[in-house]
Amino acid sequence: MSSELKISKQGLKDIAVTMDSYRIRVLIDAKQEILNSGVYNEEQYDTILLKMFDEELIKYKLHNFLSHQNPNDFKALKKFSDKNSVDITKTLSLLELLKNENLIAVNEIYDEVEGDENTPTLTTFKDFDIKCFEVSPSKIKSIYEPVKTIFETNNCSGCGLCAGICPVNCIDVYNGFGKIDEDKCIRCGLCYYFCPRTYLPVSVLNMVQEGALQIRNYSKVGHYLETYSARTKIEEIAKSCQDGGITSTCLHYLLDANIIDLAIGAKMSKTPWRPEPIILENKEDVLLTTGTKYVNNPNLKSLSALNKRKANLAVVGVPCMMQALLKSAIYNISIPALNHIKYRIGIFCMESFSYESLLKICELLNVEINDVKKTDINKGKFFVYTNSGDELTIPIKEIGHLAREDCEVCFDLTSESADISIGSIGSPSGWNTVLIRTEVGRELYNKLIENDLIESKELSEVKPGFPLLERVATSKKNKCNKHIDKKKEENLRFPRY
Ligand code: SF4
Ligand code: SF4
Ligand code: SF4
Repeated sequence: MSSELKISKQGLKDIAVTMDSYRIRVLIDAKQEILNSGVYNEEQYDTILLKMFDEELIKYKLHNFLSHQNPNDFKALKKFSDKNSVDITKTLSLLELLKNENLIAVNEIYDEVEGDENTPTLTTFKDFDIKCFEVSPSKIKSIYEPVKTIFETNNCSGCGLCAGICPVNCIDVYNGFGKIDEDKCIRCGLCYYFCPRTYLPVSVLNMVQEGALQIRNYSKVGHYLETYSARTKIEEIAKSCQDGGITSTCLHYLLDANIIDLAIGAKMSKTPWRPEPIILENKEDVLLTTGTKYVNNPNLKSLSALNKRKANLAVVGVPCMMQALLKSAIYNISIPALNHIKYRIGIFCMESFSYESLLKICELLNVEINDVKKTDINKGKFFVYTNSGDELTIPIKEIGHLAREDCEVCFDLTSESADISIGSIGSPSGWNTVLIRTEVGRELYNKLIENDLIESKELSEVKPGFPLLERVATSKKNKCNKHIDKKKEENLRFPRY
């Protein structure tokens, strides 16, 4: 379905009013402010508007369809998908959107397969029971609020996506916290729409990763195709990398072979150990980004500068950033920079710290930040290696309270929404654990091998291997569930996964 029809903006607006589409009305009314801000040019603005119109129209059709359907179950959703020639994943994502706009209630029905002493009890998805609310549009609680609510309720991951897509450039995310210039905000709600911490249809994300047509259970590290342990053969990267240097080697290869034009990542700023986003232009820039950074850094805010450059992109980032990118690919409204992303390279992340917290950790370890050469989290401890050759450690449980509160509601250790995920857990020292999740990721990894850029083994050949990775991922998920339950009990806002 496409709305490349000859229709005036007033005509679109009239239809938007009928559908009660706040998003379209605001985009039309604020056209001049959007163009004046320079984030999108007129052609890009028109494309975004039409694509948003398509999205709203199909959502409206789904709501209409469900209002007249009985029973409202998975089969009905499949029928809607076939009738409208859309993927079932698209329909499921719209279902989630309608749910979050309080237009429907969705009851998920599960089957329990009882286990024994060797196999745990399995819960598998059986069906949906969907109820449409008969509410007048004026009574529907508007969800078109800016992401300020996410910042203010300690749910913001600090990914920077909202700042990267805001059509009037009125959000800044710094040191893990966001700020909106209320005078400039046009209240379009796009930040809310894409933010991974408003709501995130995790099962749809997994289905898209797998190319699956059914909802099913995934492992504690999400969907993956292959698992490896690997390390770089590029000497300069090996000298400066944290573990196996695979992330840097991916970027080096992609930039060197001109497969991408630019990459988004993180480098250290002039302030010691305070990272900042970087747009990498060539393979030499890769060396600026090596090493793990534990201080939160909003990489994705760099996207806003890239709409007008027709450049193929790779993005390196932590799991919340990969979720933000995959969510925006699912609810795609043709934002140019997002559509230019060809590779999502995810890194493992247990938690992140504010810069002030890192200074506090240094204080506890009695070390000056200027003297820190490398930091690492391993075997339940935070390590600081100093320029003078000392190795200092502190148990994570002693500094857990210094991690960002917003990271407590994060369930994803291994960047489940990436094409390829890279970390250290599971591999021996000096090596990376690599999870290949999509065909894009597989092709990239195979190219690294073909070009003799890496040494690669099956993860099953190394110790501690996959079991440790799965254990740590499970523990992060359990911790997240506990925090979300606590927020629910205290009637506080939490991300809807
Ligand atoms: S999670 Fe990302 S998109 Fe959401 S408010 Fe925070 S920085 Fe913005
Ligand atoms: S802050 Fe959010 S609601 Fe306001 S203009 Fe930017 S994207 Fe739109
Ligand atoms: S713990 Fe989660 S929310 Fe926090 S920085 Fe890592 S991926 Fe993002």
